[in-house]
Amino acid sequence: MADFDTLRIRAGYDPTEHNNSVNVPIYQTAAFELGSLDRAEALWTLEQDDALYTRVGNPTVAILEQRLKALDGAHSALALASGMAAISYTILALTEGGGNIIASNSIYGGSEDAFAHFFPRFGANIKFVADRNDPKSYEAEIDENTRGIYIETISNPNAELYDIEALAEIAHRHHIPLIVDNTVATPYLLNPIKHGADIVIYSATKALGGHGNAIAGAVLESGDFVYDRDKYPQFYEPSYKIKDRQGNRRSAYDVDPKGPLGIHLRAYYLEFIGAALGPFDAYLVIQGLSTISERVEKQTKNAEKIAAFLETRKEVSFVKYPTAKNSRYKELAAKYFPKGAGYLLSFGFDGTEEQLDRFIRHLNYFSYHVNIGDVRSLIVNSPKTTHAELDEEHRRRAGIEDNLVRISAGLENADDLISDLREAFDEVFA
Ligand SMILES: *Cc1c(COP(=O)(O)O)cnc(C)c1O
Repeated sequence: MADFDTLRIRAGYDPTEHNNSVNVPIYQTAAFELGSLDRAEALWTLEQDDALYTRVGNPTVAILEQRLKALDGAHSALALASGMAAISYTILALTEGGGNIIASNSIYGGSEDAFAHFFPRFGANIKFVADRNDPKSYEAEIDENTRGIYIETISNPNAELYDIEALAEIAHRHHIPLIVDNTVATPYLLNPIKHGADIVIYSATKALGGHGNAIAGAVLESGDFVYDRDKYPQFYEPSYKIKDRQGNRRSAYDVDPKGPLGIHLRAYYLEFIGAALGPFDAYLVIQGLSTISERVEKQTKNAEKIAAFLETRKEVSFVKYPTAKNSRYKELAAKYFPKGAGYLLSFGFDGTEEQLDRFIRHLNYFSYHVNIGDVRSLIVNSPKTTHAELDEEHRRRAGIEDNLVRISAGLENADDLISDLREAFDEVFA
């Protein structure tokens, strides 16, 4: 298998299969010619794996799927219209018929809100752990209805790290998958499957795409997890939707024993709920992926420098970054993130709301908006924006202080970024 840097440019694409087009073509079409009755039947019975309708598959999207699969060393990948679609589909599919998921309570604001308030309406109950830093705390919540453990590999907004291998060991001992949202880390910094994760979720909107120009997501399966028949009957039921030419019903497991979740999601969730990724957005993510290594490497260096600078400021009450002076995550960072712990950090702004407003408005090289992993540096006051929907108690448990400010370091010159912050501090606290 080629190196990551080669795969992010070449995996899953052979120009000779696409009129020798050097760039991945955008198959901007809703449907595909079926050709003949016989071919139509081959497509409908999954005998032949070509595109027929873009809601359930498209060649541009398929190239992105192949590429993501290669970058994570996964068995299969399903691209979707957003990261939230990837999260919702995964949680709802695993808990069909009722079930619970054990989750860290320091996660992306949208996930946390959906976990607390929306998924339970569908019988998917989320149990937030008492101590997200202690693997035993996850194990303590597991019961006979538990269908998975869910964490972010680098959490949003505080860049917390967890012991992935210890959590995978606990999950597997209880015959449930470890689901990780690897959005912040990206496969460049961390390969979760290598450390035991079974399902890897991405918002490709963030650093995978990297340019803040497309919304996209993906669900990857390791291929190593064997779903228990009693816990996950949905993957073993002979399906009226998946039939062979003779009309025999097949299960998602029959079609792909190593990746039944992906088959199930395509057959039911894409088919009926339809958060299909458009070919143009898939193309934008493919373009972005071709520079992911250089981008994330430099963004990480910039974040390290910004964290070190913030630690010198008296107006800053804390800096949360895995390798920062007081971080409790140094050991985990050394173990899981040898290339650095990413571009996301947060800090405590020791001033009034009015001062924070002036501070943010004084910055020239930090955009004030809610994306992350963008080529541009971004700053946001998480408690009032990205995590505003959480109640106060939930925010407190998630470690989101009222004065917390999140930074996603971009690709600008580090000295320019630091001068920009310094001038804003000096101006506001003069
Ligand atoms: C942004 C984000 C999501 C949601 O992704 P969308 O593409 O915006 O739907 C999920 N998880 C994390 C960690 C994110 O940062």
